[in-house]
Amino acid sequence: MPRLRGRAPLTIILMIIFTLLVIIYHILSNEVDDISSLKINSHLKIEDVYPLSDLTESPRNIARRQQLEAQIMENLKNNGRNIESDENKYGKAFSDSTPLFKGHKIVHLDLKGAPPVIGYYKHLLPLLKKLGATGILIEYEDMFPFKEHISIISAGNCYSKADIETIQKLAEENDLIVIPLIQTFGHLEFVLKLDEYKDYREVFRYPQVLCPSYNKTLILLHKMIDQVVEAHPNIKYLHIGADEVYQIGECSRCFEVMDKKQWGKRQLFLDHVTRVAKYIKEKYPKLSILMWDDEFREILPQEILEKGLNKLVEPVVWKYTTDPGASLNDLLWDNYALVWPAVWIATAFKGATAPDRYYTDIAYHLENHQRWLEIIVKYSHKINFKGAILTGWQRYDHFSVLCELLPAAIPSLAVNLAVLRSSELNTFPNEIPRQITDALQCESTISLNIPEPQYGWTKCVYQGVLVYTATLRLYSLSQEISKMEEENTFKGWMKEYNLKYAFSSPSHVEHAVADLDNFKMELLDIEKVVRSAMDGIYDNYTIQEWIETFMVPLNDKVTSLWEAKEKILKKNAWPRRPLTKIEL
Ligand SMILES: [Zn+2]
Repeated sequence: MPRLRGRAPLTIILMIIFTLLVIIYHILSNEVDDISSLKINSHLKIEDVYPLSDLTESPRNIARRQQLEAQIMENLKNNGRNIESDENKYGKAFSDSTPLFKGHKIVHLDLKGAPPVIGYYKHLLPLLKKLGATGILIEYEDMFPFKEHISIISAGNCYSKADIETIQKLAEENDLIVIPLIQTFGHLEFVLKLDEYKDYREVFRYPQVLCPSYNKTLILLHKMIDQVVEAHPNIKYLHIGADEVYQIGECSRCFEVMDKKQWGKRQLFLDHVTRVAKYIKEKYPKLSILMWDDEFREILPQEILEKGLNKLVEPVVWKYTTDPGASLNDLLWDNYALVWPAVWIATAFKGATAPDRYYTDIAYHLENHQRWLEIIVKYSHKINFKGAILTGWQRYDHFSVLCELLPAAIPSLAVNLAVLRSSELNTFPNEIPRQITDALQCESTISLNIPEPQYGWTKCVYQGVLVYTATLRLYSLSQEISKMEEENTFKGWMKEYNLKYAFSSPSHVEHAVADLDNFKMELLDIEKVVRSAMDGIYDNYTIQEWIETFMVPLNDKVTSLWEAKEKILKKNAWPRRPLTKIEL
């Protein structure tokens, strides 16, 4: 009997392990199926690959997927108790227990690229609240409706005053604080690029940084600040930017000031920031002023204290890499602790890995947030971390192309907000916690074990997920095209030289570009889907810019290859070498 009693639990454990293996197998099959369904297969019929009614899958794949999903659901039901207990465990780290970090969690909306239409905020802001955000940092740049004689610094499609009121009303309804950001030193490209503001530049050739010594500079900044504050009557914080001041103390006006006052570039920087901050504090004493910290990193605490900046601004210490602690070391935190009792930090959930990236690498940003949480825990005894700003860059600067669109980075934002709400370090589960998949209305479980891009999120139905889906579909297609270019028949018989002289072997050419027709069709369909998915989220300017940036070059390449192929295949006799004349 004792032996039998010993065996029975062992059998049950083995059965549970077996069942779990079956579930994992089915989930992985689902993921693999998702990925393969997005790839182009030249042997399928066109209508199988490009169904008009579905964005990503052929009817055959849909049927297979539904069958697999039904099996998974059945398994989940049968093993519900086990799964439930796991998810409760995962969930516990994000809701029931006390979070390690209790400060603000502010989501950065970078409007200098792809500004959403106002209707989208009705979906976005409640979702941010549900995901655990406590506020939004709005970087209007040229989307703010500046008025009177500075109205020319606004974009032609800028928000209206009523739009801004709507955003604030929606934020209030969702219990989100609003922090406007106005650049007051560097990154003023949107102003300095204009003919009317050429004189304000520190370096004439570079429309990036304001000259702090020009006598009209402060008048302009005061106007901008007054108008932004006036449009946000209930704010408690104002962010004055001041990061990446690439050029300083380089013009003759600054030389004169520095010479007269015996200042270096650091003093010039501190003096300008102090004057801006003092203006705000005197006119709007209830406002707290935030400012990016990077220019402070090379300045001694004593110099900051002498200027009184410790009482004027609260720094936002930013680092978007996977190892923020490498440069934000003990010395920096010791120095900052001497100056400021409280600081803010800034992470990144998108727009920080490549200026032309269009899908978000969640694993990278997850790492960034996890390392930041460690920093917060490590240094909390000496400095108060008042809040975290999760930045979501939409362009690297005013002149650069768009990077990841906000709807395509919502999964990353959701995961990273959860990391910042975690009650333990490094406990983020591989299976996305149910709170997140529920908030994004995902059909099935999503695993972080799958490398990016993660196709599991395409089964969620949050507002904008179709932008995410279309983005991945484009990525999949671009991978297929790259693969084609890596084939030997392509490299040997479709080189520029072959195309230039229309001189190649028809059988190899046929093989090398066998999928071109499919690629062309797929591109056309993705464009149609992109336009429809972005409708209601972006205006036509943004939709057009995205298509011209990421789709038109690919389409041009496919089209010119197709034309070259046609030209080559039309021939039935070839010239003697040497080839000297370009065939037309
Ligand atoms: Zn200057």
